[in-house]
Amino acid sequence: MELDTRDPITTGAGSPADLGAAGHIALAEVHSAHHYHPLPVVIAEAHGTWVTDVDGHRFLDCLAGYSALNFGHGHPAILAAAHAQLDRVTLVSRAFHHDQFGPFCAELCALTGKDMVVPMNSGAEAVETAIKVARKWGYRVKGIPAHEAEIIVAEGNFHGRTTTIVSFSDDEAAREHYGPYTPGFVQVPFGSVEALAAAITPRTAAILLEPIQGEGGVVIPPEGYLRAVRALCDEHDVLLLADEIQAGLARTGRTFACDHEDVVPDLYILGKALGGGVLPVSAIAGDHRVLGLLRPGEHGSTFGGNALACAVGRAVIALLQTGEFQARSAELGAVLRAELDRLVGHGVVEVRSRGLWAGVDIDPDLATGRQVCEALLRRGVLAKDTHGSTLRLAPPLVITADEVIWAVTQLRDSLAELGAR
Ligand SMILES: *Cc1c(COP(=O)(O)O)cnc(C)c1O
Repeated sequence: MELDTRDPITTGAGSPADLGAAGHIALAEVHSAHHYHPLPVVIAEAHGTWVTDVDGHRFLDCLAGYSALNFGHGHPAILAAAHAQLDRVTLVSRAFHHDQFGPFCAELCALTGKDMVVPMNSGAEAVETAIKVARKWGYRVKGIPAHEAEIIVAEGNFHGRTTTIVSFSDDEAAREHYGPYTPGFVQVPFGSVEALAAAITPRTAAILLEPIQGEGGVVIPPEGYLRAVRALCDEHDVLLLADEIQAGLARTGRTFACDHEDVVPDLYILGKALGGGVLPVSAIAGDHRVLGLLRPGEHGSTFGGNALACAVGRAVIALLQTGEFQARSAELGAVLRAELDRLVGHGVVEVRSRGLWAGVDIDPDLATGRQVCEALLRRGVLAKDTHGSTLRLAPPLVITADEVIWAVTQLRDSLAELGAR
């Protein structure tokens, strides 16, 4: 295409700061595909729980990068680890060892209680890794006939965006026109033990679940569900793959969401907060009987387990080992829940929450989730809707009780502005 000579970025005519918010949004509108619909705010800086836009307005971040920022923006320990590692070595590829790799893997094993890890980058890659390893286990150990392995997944799931993963999504927008789809997945209602039990066959290699469905709207299964799933897996020699990418790493008040039912999956699938909000870091963790099946050449990633990622991941694991963030999430989650419960019947239909993680169903007669997010934005709160009428709140775990109460007050006032009584 022709270069637009009025475009200050491509002409080098000005710094990004000269653009103003409207200019930045216009550039993105024209030059980025429209696969997202961001709120009209252009962030220039962020520290802790607060972000500042290009015009100097401050906002309380109640999304935290979909839980990638559990420790807040620019946590000093995470930044220090990243800065130090940037000056030493960032990437050597897996063709060689580096001095962050062994310690990262060992520390992640200690956190998860597992024997081994496979480091990757994005969450979707970690899910793909778990699917591949579960299939390999199904053929090599369980003795499933070649190409017949099945993995059971839940309705309303979100596990990422690759062609295989969208093959077993029931979100039409995420799936439509991306076929032909990868076979080998069976969908059952989330939360139903009976449906799961009925779906298991001798060809079932694994059950892949989010212990709490995040994109689905913070959907919490009935008490005892995860324990029952674990028992079914043991009974039928099936692997339990827990996608803790959004729910894990202190978000729910425990290190892992599975901890609430004392359930240990065969594979933990981790991402988002593992990269400390600095860079994409994901991994799966499991025991030797499963991950020990991988031989050289059978899986990999150029950037997976790179030195910078491992240094940042180690800082994250060290923060998690203190237990401080799990405790904050549990304590402040109770404050958040008490405040949100007062809105039920006043523009809010239902609240689901665990720790500092809440799905708030807005009365659809009042407004869409998007409209509430736009009203919140005007009041200095960043949040994100999901599935039309659900508001998802997941602030950084460094938020204070006063900030939690302030954020919910802004929500109350936003709902009132939209007509709630
Ligand atoms: C975000 C998410 C993923 C995908 O992670 P990406 O880093 O975006 O690929 C997978 N599973 C769950 C539960 C998630 O929330």
